Amino acid sequence: MSASSSTQQTLWIRQPLACSDPAASGGIVVMGNKIIEQVAAGQQPTQQVDTVFDASQHVLLPGLVNTHHHFYQTLTRAYTAALNKPLFPWLTTLYDVWAGLDDEQLRVASELAMVELLMSGCTTIADHHYVFSGALQHAIDSQVEAARLVGVRAALTRGSMSVGRDEGGLPPQSVVQDEQTILDDSARLIKQYHQPGNGAMVTVALAPCSPFSVSQALMRASAQLAQAQQVRLHTHLAETEAETAYCERLFGMRPLDYLDDCGWLGKQTWLAHGIHFNDSEIRRLGTAGTGVAHCPSSNMVLGSGLCRTIELEAAGAPVGLAVDGSASNDHSNLAQEMRQALLLGRLRYSPDQVTHEAVIRWATQGSARCLGRTDIGGLKPGQQADLALFGLDGLRFSGAENPLAALLLCGADHADHVMVAGQWRVRSGQPEGIDLAALRSRHEAAARRLWGHIRH
Ligand SMILES: [Zn+2]
Repeated sequence: MSASSSTQQTLWIRQPLACSDPAASGGIVVMGNKIIEQVAAGQQPTQQVDTVFDASQHVLLPGLVNTHHHFYQTLTRAYTAALNKPLFPWLTTLYDVWAGLDDEQLRVASELAMVELLMSGCTTIADHHYVFSGALQHAIDSQVEAARLVGVRAALTRGSMSVGRDEGGLPPQSVVQDEQTILDDSARLIKQYHQPGNGAMVTVALAPCSPFSVSQALMRASAQLAQAQQVRLHTHLAETEAETAYCERLFGMRPLDYLDDCGWLGKQTWLAHGIHFNDSEIRRLGTAGTGVAHCPSSNMVLGSGLCRTIELEAAGAPVGLAVDGSASNDHSNLAQEMRQALLLGRLRYSPDQVTHEAVIRWATQGSARCLGRTDIGGLKPGQQADLALFGLDGLRFSGAENPLAALLLCGADHADHVMVAGQWRVRSGQPEGIDLAALRSRHEAAARRLWGHIRH
């Protein structure tokens, strides 16, 4: 321990009502940005603590980790022209709206989505931003600023689209970029913002959008750049049957074979959705250590299917949880997403396979593994002090005997207190330093401006 850290204040989150980690039933001790001790049930910390937070009315979880989102889509929630459509027609309808995005709209959309996530108990947010129109060139830079303002840990991904409608892709030509521009900007962002190692507040990964909007050359070049720069890779894969048919028609292979062919099948990669894998593909993902971000609400809204979470985890693949973009969910609430994962999972698996403990594991440790991190997603000594405290005061929890299970079964939708890197970012349900009414009105105005561009 360094001399400076030994002078930092210690805080005991004392005797929570319940905790997802049985070894921390008596709470945890935080010093600086880290957890330094777990306290067993009924015990005291081994050393004197400076301050105490009485957690006897709260359920303690590690800060939740969201593994896939598109913040800008908060501007097109419940958008009439895109309602009641499966993925491809949903996308082609919305691409034309999204083509009008500018930096200011993305900035406020990112801020709002981050605050929504934070209030739901999420401390690490991942975003997949792939729309770079003429008026929106500094998307990731704006998102870094927003993450610093809100105080969340951010895994930002530099998305890309290089195959427009003229070349047989789905997106309009105005939102695709040439490949050298994409690669140059990716390298710039890594250099400027990516923090390697434990405790990182901002990481950058490379994220070509999907097989139907990016060339094979860009997929391969992105993998090479990621390897050279030691950053992670992310994309959408195996979301729908239509995507499988598209890959077979265009590349003569299934989506996972295509991914493998592009040099992506490894532990540096996590995939959004990962629904339509067969048994041998699941074994390959497990052996490779490729992660899957399970997005239950989005998969249900678009009728895409059910991710094979239990088989993927058993095969060794990291399985995380994600709210996905707000045009297909249409919220950014990871606590609610845990309930959705539990309910959806039980349509395929037996109740003792998809337990509340399993889903909490996906939303914390599993999600952290998807992002390649061991310093978050848990409450062990040495891990980052990222945590969420959920109260059970609401009517919906009254009569609940098991507080941990109640979070999912009764449907917790917000955390009372949230800490990121040892700093309280939500207190008594209110995010620190954020004017919610002003944010709401700036965001609504930005959304209306975006819809307006398509109507003129
Ligand atoms: Zn997505």
